[in-house]
Formats: sequence, structure tokens, C-alpha cells
Amino acid sequence: MRKKIIVGNWKMNTNLELAYNLVIDINKLKGRELESIILVPFTHIKTLQEIACPHLFIGAQNVSQYECGAYTGEISASMLESIGIKYVTIGHSERRTIFNENDIIIAEKIKKSLAYNLHPIICCGEPLAERKNNNYLNFVKGQITSALFDLAESDLKNISIAYEPIWAIGTGETASATQAQEVHAFIRNMIEEKFSSKIAENLTILYGGSVNPSNAKELFSEEDIDGALVGGASLDANSFVEIIKSL
Ligand code: PEP
Repeated sequence: MRKKIIVGNWKMNTNLELAYNLVIDINKLKGRELESIILVPFTHIKTLQEIACPHLFIGAQNVSQYECGAYTGEISASMLESIGIKYVTIGHSERRTIFNENDIIIAEKIKKSLAYNLHPIICCGEPLAERKNNNYLNFVKGQITSALFDLAESDLKNISIAYEPIWAIGTGETASATQAQEVHAFIRNMIEEKFSSKIAENLTILYGGSVNPSNAKELFSEEDIDGALVGGASLDANSFVEIIKSL
């Protein structure tokens, strides 16, 4: 069965006190049975793991492609595993554009994460120019191919994908449900052709880009949209929980 889930990406926001209060509020509003994930700053992980209610998983926003050693400022997959982290985002457009992470680095990070039993949430999505040139499917195809096509079929059970058109991230402009569904179905079809229909059918594909309580339900009504990666709206407990409840 395909897993449906909402993931909040806090980015470089909150201090520990604000983060603590935000999780307390999410706990109160959410109800225990609804599964969701929040990707929080590294400095908050241990504290938030202690207070998050069952089914609110604390995840990481980044991981190094390197094993260990002289990489000042980096956090390894083995470090994340050792503190009970399962979910980590890889290939977010902010990492690709601001921190120059290319497809090769992203593929290395995915492999390293899988080697340490992490579950990477792999982001892809086109910039506005590719959308305008009608080249967006080709662009996403390139990202998915280099991220996934070297993996073993069994690895695909331990990853999720987030389709996040860059023009929709943090802009307030969301892709329409039809636009998002087109790309999700395209990705699922690629996975089916390369791996198998079973793997494709069970793959969770999230949509990200200005998801909020008023557009979530429509997006989630599409067949291939299995949840959302939520940035801005995940920093407000009411909005985040409303999105979770729309799924
Ligand atoms: C994101 O950070 O991945 C994101 C989709 O942000 P926002 O929801 O704010 O557009």
C-alpha cells in the first residue's frame, strides 16, 4: 500500500524555544493517529524527539555525501542514524541553487543515506524558464534519472520523491492540481518502466510548492499526489495540522 504523508520543512527557522512550543501545539491539534514528519534544524532534533507525539517523526534537512572525517560543518548519515533519524530531504532546490549541489552530489547523498538505513525524500522540480519553454518534463526526467536509476530495485522501497516546481516554492503561487498530477504521473511512469509496476505503485510522491490549507484538498484529490512537502505553512501549527487533516 502506498504511504500518504505530510512533511513539514522548517528550513533555517525557529530557535529552540519557538520550536519546542510549535511541536507542543502540533501535538495538541494533530491527534495521535495521523502520521507526519517535520524536518527541523539539526540543533533541535534531540529535544524535539523527546516531546513529539507518536506518529510525528522528526527528520533532518540535509546529510553529507561523505562517510566521516575532515569535512568541517557537515553531518553524516551515520550520525543521523545514531540518533534515531529516519527521514532526510535530499536535493531540495535551495540546496541545489544556493549550495551548488549538483546531480552527482545528490546521487551520492542518496546512496550514503540508504547505506545507513535512512529514508531520503528526494526533491526534483523545474525552474520557471523550463516550465515556460515547455521543457519541464524533460528537466524532471534528467533529475530523476540521475538520482534513482543507479539504485537497486529494493532501494526504491526506502525512498520517497517530492515534486517541487521551483517557481512555486515560497512564492505563494502553487501549481494547479492538474499541473502537479501531470508530473507525478510522469514520474511514476518512469519508475514503472525502469523498475516495476509494483515499485511504481507503492512509491510515495509528494507535491511541494506553496501548499496551504486552502489548496491542499484539491491537490490531494489527484490520483498520483500522495501528500505534500510544506515549507512556510508548516511553521504555523494550525495551518500545518489543517493540511495534515486534508490528506
Ligand atoms: C519547501 O520548502 O520545500 C516548500 C515547498 O516551501 P513552501 O511550502 O513555502 O513553498
